[in-house]
Amino acid sequence: MAGRPYIVGNWKMNGTRAMLSEARAIDRAAQRHMKVEVALAPPYTLIHAVHREVEQIGVGAQDCHPGIDGAFTGDISATMLADAGAKFVIVGHSERRVGHGESNDLVREKAQAALDAGMRVIMCCGEDAPTRDAGKAIQFVTGQLKASLPEMADAGERLTVAYEPIWAIGTGNNATTDDISEMHREIRKLLVSLYGEEQGSAVRILYGGSVKPDNAKAILAADEVNGALVGGASLTADSFMGIALAA
Ligand code: PGA
Repeated sequence: MAGRPYIVGNWKMNGTRAMLSEARAIDRAAQRHMKVEVALAPPYTLIHAVHREVEQIGVGAQDCHPGIDGAFTGDISATMLADAGAKFVIVGHSERRVGHGESNDLVREKAQAALDAGMRVIMCCGEDAPTRDAGKAIQFVTGQLKASLPEMADAGERLTVAYEPIWAIGTGNNATTDDISEMHREIRKLLVSLYGEEQGSAVRILYGGSVKPDNAKAILAADEVNGALVGGASLTADSFMGIALAA
């Protein structure tokens, strides 16, 4: 089974040191609600600072370079992130896949780099609106995942999948709980076929896209939803922990 609900905040390109107080408040609240696993992916510049400030929550990164080191101006390797205190890396977010033209192959290499550096991986996937309207969402998402997921023996422990329909991210639009569960069941089938019954069943599948305190309860109660990846609503401890408490 997929274990404790996992609620992950993705601060995206938001946050200066002034926001460390929010991270501390999230950490304090998480210590009181241990039935939920809470994690935060601040921007690179805050990873080390958040890591030093918190006791309970996991700290991770929003992306990494697939290489170990070298002449890659402006890039950050998984090894550097682990050294800064990151315990996981989000890869394949649509803001990277679409916004930065990242291919499935590149996303898989990044995931492998994060695993090689000893971290966990949150693998994002999701279709755009025309693909859903054309009735091809499941085919698209399972194809994207098949091509992006690395081989691994311990997927249950180290892999999380986040389904985030692109049209739901930052828009206030949610998929229906029926559509979310339908997609998550297909993702589960794929995970079991790739990693076997035991490992594939233990991977947590998160939903992301405009998750807020007022819709979190229904979404998190949906079949095969094991948590949430939260953008905008993770920027304050109040709204983020409102979501975590709904789990
Ligand atoms: P949102 O972002 O919660 O602001 O829609 C979710 C995400 O992109 O992970």
